[in-house]
Order: sequence, then structure tokens, then C-alpha cells
Amino acid sequence: MALPRLIFTPEHELFRDTCRRFFQAEVAPHAERWREQGYCDREAFRKAGAEGLLLMWADEQYGGAGIEDFRYEQVMFEECIRHGELGLFLTLHSRLVAPYIGALGTAEQKARFLPPCVRGETILGIAMTEPGAGSDLAGMQTRAELHGDHWVLNGSKTYISNGQIGDVFLVAARTDPAQKYGIGLFLVERGMPGFERGRNLKKIGLKAQDTSELFFRDVRVPVTNVLGEPTQGFRYLTQFLAEERLIGAVQYVTSAQVAWDLTLEFVKERRAFGRPIGAFQNTRFKLAEMRAQIDALQTFVDQCVMLHVEHRLTPEIAAEAKLLCSELEGRVTDECLQLHGGAGYMEEYRISRLYTDARISRIYAGSSEIMKEIIARSVGLDDRRMS
Ligand SMILES: Cc1cc2nc3c(=O)[nH]c(=O)nc-3n(C[C@H](O)[C@H](O)[C@H](O)COP(=O)(O)OP(=O)(O)OC[C@H]3O[C@@H](n4cnc5c(N)ncnc54)[C@H](O)[C@@H]3O)c2cc1C
Repeated sequence: MALPRLIFTPEHELFRDTCRRFFQAEVAPHAERWREQGYCDREAFRKAGAEGLLLMWADEQYGGAGIEDFRYEQVMFEECIRHGELGLFLTLHSRLVAPYIGALGTAEQKARFLPPCVRGETILGIAMTEPGAGSDLAGMQTRAELHGDHWVLNGSKTYISNGQIGDVFLVAARTDPAQKYGIGLFLVERGMPGFERGRNLKKIGLKAQDTSELFFRDVRVPVTNVLGEPTQGFRYLTQFLAEERLIGAVQYVTSAQVAWDLTLEFVKERRAFGRPIGAFQNTRFKLAEMRAQIDALQTFVDQCVMLHVEHRLTPEIAAEAKLLCSELEGRVTDECLQLHGGAGYMEEYRISRLYTDARISRIYAGSSEIMKEIIARSVGLDDRRMS
């Protein structure tokens, strides 16, 4: 029995029921086909939009619900993992990209971009990583030069989620070569001449999620598609980091919980040496240890969510949550797969996918090593200032 969670009201639980029904009816039946084709149907975004699940935070004038309480998003992400498909990146669309438009966009930009995003007609992605710049984003080479009322973009990005189905990408590009952190954020739209996508990259997990290279060859981006100040992109990116890490933590601890739940069922049914494998001390102790670890981290994540609701979550605490939850997810899915035996290696058992999907959690949205750097610096152990 999992530890009771204290942060939700009856309204959140009602909303959880709505989400569960939506993911069970509109997502789960298609998930296997999506994994085979390597991307989710665009239709899923439209249906999520019609259900009011996209950009819930957006103002009513743009079609949103104006909900600031992050717990509703948390509930939705949890249900998407439990009953839907992890590769359907509603989070990326709604919470990792659209908020830049909401926070930095002009009235004209918000009126142009937000309503179709709320309806799920426009799908968003974010393009920061380059072949030569991942953790070290300051090394990015994609350039933007101002020519009258257009910026001209040249360069390439890689590993970009929603790379095939995405319509609008928030692209980070260097605008001032003299400044290490002089970058701008550009909204690059499907169909702009010179903007091309590479193939859908083959991955070991997250099979329903399309991940691609993007190429920019003399792409003329109107100045009306620049978000905020064209040299302040780095500062803007760091403003959203706490939430990005928290979203990761919410998802990873949920995946660990799902893995644990289905393993508990499995070990009660599967028999060896005349007994259910759940009767062996090793199985009982492993599941007991994992139960305690998941409860502890879920409590920490819920506390971080409440801090975020009160605008008090720091990027450093969010880094702790992201680090611990991604590491926990990796351990739990590995041990739960082990308890499944050979069945765990078969794709028809969900634990196999939870295991392969989990591997990316320690790498993207800032790797575990980068999270440790951030935490160490926050306690005064900054290698850049120590000799
Ligand atoms: C499935 C998937 C989806 C992705 N989606 C997106 C997306 O939508 N948009 C986007 O922009 N990017 C995306 N990425 C890219 C992702 O954010 C990067 O892969 C990640 O930031 C790591 O960068 P890198 O791959 O260049 O690894 P590197 O930065 O080269 O790191 C390699 C190793 O070195 C370690 N390392 C690096 N610096 C340090 C340091 N200072 N101290 C100690 N160790 C260090 C890293 O932790 C890692 O273990 C995605 C990646 C994947 C695989």
C-alpha cells in the first residue's frame, strides 16, 4: 500500500478521473501502433486539446483555462504515464515550450500562436542541442544574422523531440558572436524555406516519440517570430529550468511506481520451485526496499510541487528531485525487470518498455552529472571559483 498523498483536493481527484478516462480511451488503444510507426498521431494532440488538457495555464482569451495550479498538470502527466503512452509528449508541448510564448511573447505573438496550440492543431518542439553542443549549450554554433526585418538562420540541431510531427520549433541560435551567452530564441515554422528535418532517429526506447535532426539553411525568420530580446535567450532558458526538472521528477517517480505495481502483481502469479516467486525472501526484500524508496521520493516530489505552486521552488532543489527520481526510476525498472525473469525481456510485457524508456531520464533535460554540478555549486563548491 503506497503512502497516502496529501497535496490533492477532491477537485484534483475528479480531474484525475477525467484524465484517466481520456488516456484509456484515446491513447492506450493506439500506443502499440505508434511505437511501431515511430511517432504519435497528430490526432492525439487535437483530442487532448478538445478535452482541455493542453496549455491549461493559458489565458481564457487564448482558449486556455487560466489554471495556475501546477498540481493539475502533475495529475495529467501521472495519468498519461499510467494509462496512456510515455512517448506522447504533451508535457513538452504544453509545459516546456508554450510557456516561453506565454511569458515572453508580444500580444500579437500570443494571439497568433497560443490558440492553435491550445487546440492541438499546432504541435511545439524546442531545439537547443546540436551535434557539438549538448550539456555545454554555450558551445552552440547555429547562427542568426539580422537582415532588415528578417533574421537569417544557419546551422543544425539534433535529438529534437517532436522533430517529425512538430509544426513550430523554438530554436536557440547565436546572435552575438562576441558574447559567450549571446543567443536569441526564434519561432521557426513548418514550411519556412530552408527549414528541413532529417530522418526519425532510431532509439532504444521511447519508440512512440519522434526524435530528429533539424537543418536550417538561410532560413528567413521574420523579426515578429523572435521571442523577447534577441541576445537574452540564455537568461530566458534558465528561467524555466526549475519547472523542467520538476516535470521530469514527476514523470520518473510515476514510472517507478507503475513498474513496482505491475511487478507486485507479477510475482504473486508467477511460480517457481512450487511457490509464487513473491514468496522468496529476495523478491520480498527487493519490493519492500523499492516501496520505501518510492514513498520517500514521491513525498519529496509532492513537496517540490507545493513549493512550485507557491513560486518558491529553486532550480537547485528541482535538480535534486530530477537527479534522485531519474536514478530511482533506473534502479526500480531494472530490478523489476529482473523479477520478471525472461518475460521481462519480452516487449509484450510492459516492464521491458519501462526499462528501456527509463534510460533517457538520466541524460536529457540535464544529465545526472550536470544535476550534481548544479547542486555542488549551490553549496559553494564551484570549481570555476576554486583553485
Ligand atoms: C530521446 C532524446 C530526446 C531529446 N529531446 C531534445 C529536445 O527536444 N530538444 C533539445 O534541445 N535536446 C533534446 N535532447 C538532447 C539532450 O538534452 C542531450 O542529449 C543532453 O543534454 C546531453 O547532451 P549530449 O548528448 O550532447 O551529451 P554530452 O553533453 O556530450 O555529455 C556526454 C557525457 O558527459 C557528461 N558531461 C558533460 N558535461 C559534464 C560536466 N561538466 N561534468 C561532468 N560530466 C559531464 C554528461 O553527463 C554525459 O554523461 C534529447 C535527447 C534524447 C536522447
